[in-house]
Amino acid sequence: MSNSQQILQQVFGYSDFRPPQDQIIDTLVAGGGALVLMPTGGGKSLCYQIPALIRSGCGVVISPLIALMQDQVSALELLGIEAAFLNSTLSALEADAIEQQLRADELDLLYIAPERLTQARTLQLLREIDIALFAIDEAHCVSQWGHDFRADYLQLSLLHELFPAVPRIALTATADDRTRQEISERLQLQKAEQFIAGFDRPNIRYRIALKQNAKQQLLKFLKNEHLHDAGIVYCLSRKKTEDIAHWLSEQGFNAFPYHAGMSNESRARHQEQFLREESVIIVATIAFGMGIDKPDVRFVAHLDLPKTVESYYQETGRAGRDGEPADAWMIYGLQDVIKLRQMMDSSEGSEAHKRAEQHRLNAMLGLCEITSCRRQALLDYFGEALPEPCGNCDTCLEPPETWDGTEAARMALSVAFRTEQRFGVNHLIDVMLGTDTDKIFQFGHQHLPVYGIGKEIDKNQWRSVFRQLVARGYMSVDLERFGALRLEEKCRPLLRSEETIALRKDSKVKTAKQQTKTRLAPEVDVALWEALRDCRRQFAEEMGVPPYVVFHDSTLQEMCLRMPQNMEEFELLNGVGERKLEKYGPGFVRVISDHLAA
Ligand code: ADP
Ligand code: ZN
Repeated sequence: MSNSQQILQQVFGYSDFRPPQDQIIDTLVAGGGALVLMPTGGGKSLCYQIPALIRSGCGVVISPLIALMQDQVSALELLGIEAAFLNSTLSALEADAIEQQLRADELDLLYIAPERLTQARTLQLLREIDIALFAIDEAHCVSQWGHDFRADYLQLSLLHELFPAVPRIALTATADDRTRQEISERLQLQKAEQFIAGFDRPNIRYRIALKQNAKQQLLKFLKNEHLHDAGIVYCLSRKKTEDIAHWLSEQGFNAFPYHAGMSNESRARHQEQFLREESVIIVATIAFGMGIDKPDVRFVAHLDLPKTVESYYQETGRAGRDGEPADAWMIYGLQDVIKLRQMMDSSEGSEAHKRAEQHRLNAMLGLCEITSCRRQALLDYFGEALPEPCGNCDTCLEPPETWDGTEAARMALSVAFRTEQRFGVNHLIDVMLGTDTDKIFQFGHQHLPVYGIGKEIDKNQWRSVFRQLVARGYMSVDLERFGALRLEEKCRPLLRSEETIALRKDSKVKTAKQQTKTRLAPEVDVALWEALRDCRRQFAEEMGVPPYVVFHDSTLQEMCLRMPQNMEEFELLNGVGERKLEKYGPGFVRVISDHLAA
């Protein structure tokens, strides 16, 4: 029987394990259990796929994501692995055929939905066959506190009772301690070894800029950096997703909206296009994402602020699962904060719940306004330390300048105070600038001592000051009074001259030149790249799978750089195993030779 290193190379076409993949595999092969925490895109699947191939019998993978099973199985079949799935999308006839294959010990891997697994009939079947292991994917679904809770997952502890000799591995990308505890207890994995990989996603570049003209900013970002890429644009409201998708289409992009208010058919159609075609942009509310396992999403853009750091991390985490460079790009402004506060305030829920939500929003705002490394702050939020600044976020790449905002902050606070904390940001700025609006005269604000004290700096800078004061908790937004700004306890030391404050200079969104990073190595020939993509698209259509299942972008890039002209050279590429060599090698080699001859 082959060892894991051999399988990695021959079947999957990869040269090295990403630690701790090798340790996890060894543990399972030896019959031990494992609890695995690894970020999305970390490489969890190999951890159970390889032991399932090495151990005798079929590996049973439990996953709630029925929609993904077909693609997972197709991808394995392309590698020459015997795989199948059992779920409610199959007809009785199809299910029977798979049960027969199982009985005949013809399958290496079986994907199954939890509700199917726990049926008496399935359990009986499993008792009769040889099982290599149980892999419980998305294991955080047993957690009642998490938002992905599945009642069926609770019953999975019966695996331990019914099949005590079969090793079990539970996998998740959800970070916190409490969830891990719960998984361990509910799945009876107390004796299992725990493998915790870091949560960092080093290939994702985090950027957060000030919202000025959202559409133009987005357009510039897409045109300069992601012209032919697949990506997700998140918006807060359904209507906005439709507006933006429509507008992007007018600009020549292949963009579709996605939100919970659409019909099931249109939703499914748009999702399918996103998965199957290249360069599709989905403009979505948070309804989009769970169970989307597309590895080559090159950017996630936020046009509105997420409510929590957790959501931000989860949403941005959908970019770059293939490990290739990807962007998490966001623009935000004071208006976002006001809108989110309004939504929270009008939501049902206890005062305590609202306070907790406010607290989490504040953490998100903190992330937006920091002047140090964003990745360090993000990981710190999840309890992980990154010793050095990352070098791959906007604040690392172009450290924001700060200025002594003490005087300005005091002025801003006193204007709010003098106008009895009853007015919103626009009026306050009008007062500071000494503008003569009707509203000023209506309230007699031209007579206040603070009238016109802020002429030194302009309107945009004042907005920036107010936004930062709110984001950092010196002021809050009073929603009963249409967004009036109120002073908070925290501003006392500042007003009493016991404290100073450094504010971030809002930089304009960086020009393309500074930020364009070509994903393609400079020496790559674009014509060859396009020809290879065409070749991949044809194979994908023939097999009825998404293009990335044939080869990832990274393999295509390697082809461009190394230009293999025979099978021996082609075999050396990362991502080319025996089966894919045989099936696709000749086709791609021909494209490369034609290109060189042209
Ligand atoms: P996860 O389930 O943790 O999100 P996957 O198992 O889907 O991640 O793996 C993410 C990507 O990384 C896949 O495209 C996979 O083929 C690739 N991958 C996994 N392990 C390795 C490895 N050792 N070397 C190269 N690529 C790998
Ligand atoms: Zn950084």
